[in-house]
Amino acid sequence: MIIVLRPHTPDHKIKEVAELTKNLGYDPRIIKGIEHTVIAAVGDELTHLSLESLKNHPFIQNVLPIQKPYKLASREYHAESSKVKIGQYYIGAGHFQVIAGPCAVESYEQMKQATKDIVATGVKIIRGGAYKPRTSPYAFQGLGSEGLDILQAMKDEFKVAVVTEIVGVSHVDKTAEVADCLQIGARNCQNYHLLEVVAKVGKPVLLKRGMATTVSEWLSAAEYLLVNGCPSIILCERGIRTFETATRSTLDVGAVAVAKQETHYPVIVDPSHAAGKVSLVLPLAKAAIGAGVDGLIVETHPDPVNASSDAAQQIASGKFSEFMDSLRPLIEVCYK
Ligand code: PEP
Ligand code: MN
Repeated sequence: MIIVLRPHTPDHKIKEVAELTKNLGYDPRIIKGIEHTVIAAVGDELTHLSLESLKNHPFIQNVLPIQKPYKLASREYHAESSKVKIGQYYIGAGHFQVIAGPCAVESYEQMKQATKDIVATGVKIIRGGAYKPRTSPYAFQGLGSEGLDILQAMKDEFKVAVVTEIVGVSHVDKTAEVADCLQIGARNCQNYHLLEVVAKVGKPVLLKRGMATTVSEWLSAAEYLLVNGCPSIILCERGIRTFETATRSTLDVGAVAVAKQETHYPVIVDPSHAAGKVSLVLPLAKAAIGAGVDGLIVETHPDPVNASSDAAQQIASGKFSEFMDSLRPLIEVCYK
């Protein structure tokens, strides 16, 4: 950290601040300028006590961190892109994957038809919420453990890998028995207790960006998972809350580019929740591929009109092959 002292701070006060810095476990190096004096506090900011408290000192103008709040997730720590294994399929470091499936698991028949249509396009990883985080308590909350049994049946019948969401600590263990990758949704991106519990299960986690989370906060949430034992993560941009209402959420393509530079873990986009309507899913998916994502997670349902949740944004699974055909040339150009 760099401690900037107020102009013309007297020598005995500079010494006092250096002493305080030392007491917090850092090695203070005093650099005297003409007007300003700065103290470089040498030490690991992530494991030492914070110097934030020094901001209160009457002779201190500012305390500036040097290290990023996320270390294990950062490219400074690990320069090469990392690949993550979901079931038997890799994503990241040149492995592009589409994850597809309905918003919610509604029945065995619904899931079977969706999976059949998805697998026919070559996609190997399916999604579907057994537990749904809904804005309204009156909305469909998911089938719960029955939904997990249906997802297990899909794995057995189609040899697909499964991504499904965790909404609370009470069903983490049962969900982890079925899921190859655990999804943390936008609403829980900064639910740190849930992140800690999910991390300990030892499965890869797909971490969605919160609707009002900065890239730094999102990557710090990823750091929570990694510090607590999560073996690998996939970061997912799904749109943020802005003044714009023409789309359900504003897809932040800039954040994708930043995240790709900042972290070595795979970054993917969910164009469905950003778009909110089916006609916008393809152009947003194309924008994401252009920005360099490692994959997409897309909602598709055999009968979207009668879907229990997110009906407007789900691609009819009978038309999912058209969606994939439209993307394929772009994927080939971008990832050859
Ligand atoms: C979902 O993937 O179904 C979901 C609820 O997404 P989000 O957390 O991005 O809203
Ligand atoms: Mn949904």
